Parts: sequence; C-alpha cells; structure tokens
Amino acid sequence: MKPASLRHQISSGGVIFRRAPDVVEVVLVSVRGGKYWCLPKGVVDKGETPEITAVREVREESGLSGKIIDKIGEITYWYYIRGENMKCRKTVHFYLMEYESGKTSDHDFEVDDAAWFPFDTALKKISFNGDRTILEKAKVLLEGLESGK
Ligand code: ATP
Repeated sequence: MKPASLRHQISSGGVIFRRAPDVVEVVLVSVRGGKYWCLPKGVVDKGETPEITAVREVREESGLSGKIIDKIGEITYWYYIRGENMKCRKTVHFYLMEYESGKTSDHDFEVDDAAWFPFDTALKKISFNGDRTILEKAKVLLEGLESGK
C-alpha cells in the first residue's frame, strides 16, 4: 500500500455558557449516533477568522448564538481517513462564549443532539481528553471573571 498522504486541517469552536440559578451550564453536542459528546466546532472556511468560525459553528451545531468573551486555547489531534489513505492532523481553536439567544432544539442535522449541562456534568460526559482540557481551562477562566466582578 502507498504511504498515507498528510493533511493539516484547522477548525474552530466554542464553550458557550449561561448562568442558571445555582450553576453555570455549558453546551455539548453528540455525534456518531450519540457515541461521543463534544464541544461544537467546524472547519475554518476560506476568508474566515477562527473567531467568526467559532460563532458560526456554535450557532449551526448547537442552535445557539453567543458572543466571544476570551480565547481558551487550542488542541491538536491526529486521525486517519481510511477511504482516502490520508493522515489528518487537526488543530482546533476554542473560544469562551456567553450565551445570547436560541434553543438547542434548533441544532443542525450534522449532530445527533445538543444539550445544556452543568459544568461538572459536562466534564464527566465529554468524550475526548483534549476537549476536557479546554472545558477545564474555560472553568478557570470563568471563575477568574466571576471573582473579578
Ligand atoms: P469538523 O467538526 O472540524 O468539521 P469532522 O466532524 O469532520 O470535523 P472530527 O470531529 O475532527 O471530524 O473527527 C475526526 C476523527 O477525530 C473522528 O474519528 C473523531 O472520533 C476524532 N476526534 C474528534 N474530536 C477529537 C478530539 N478532541 N480528540 C481526538 N480525536 C477526536
């Protein structure tokens, strides 16, 4: 078999949060028939900044609009596309976003579900360690914002 070709893809997404009476809640989306729970994200299209992509992808995948408060960080992972014999290295930028409007029932068909979870529940539910690291950083950022009020 020929050696796999390589591709580097850049995506962007967000941790969108709202303050419920007792807890802060964040949104996760489920994919692959509900097998995984992830942060909403998608490919940075030509001419887009990662910030614009994050707001667009969060709106499309979760049905929710929000405004960016801060950059959280980025993660990188590798995966293999068997049909194309391609090794993909993906970098995903993540932003902390404050919820403004919309409802999760308006999530798009690319995801199986979108739902609000208390922060600590989301930390347990989320499937990938990289996404979990981003959620943990988002929690620290938010706690810093709250204590500075
Ligand atoms: P995008 O949402 O950026 O358009 P996609 O849906 O085409 O991307 P990914 O979500 O990156 O693709 O999934 C590609 C592969 O990487 C899948 O096998 C998926 O299970 C895996 N994957 C997804 N997120 C992560 C992650 N945070 N860490 C490691 N592997 C991941």
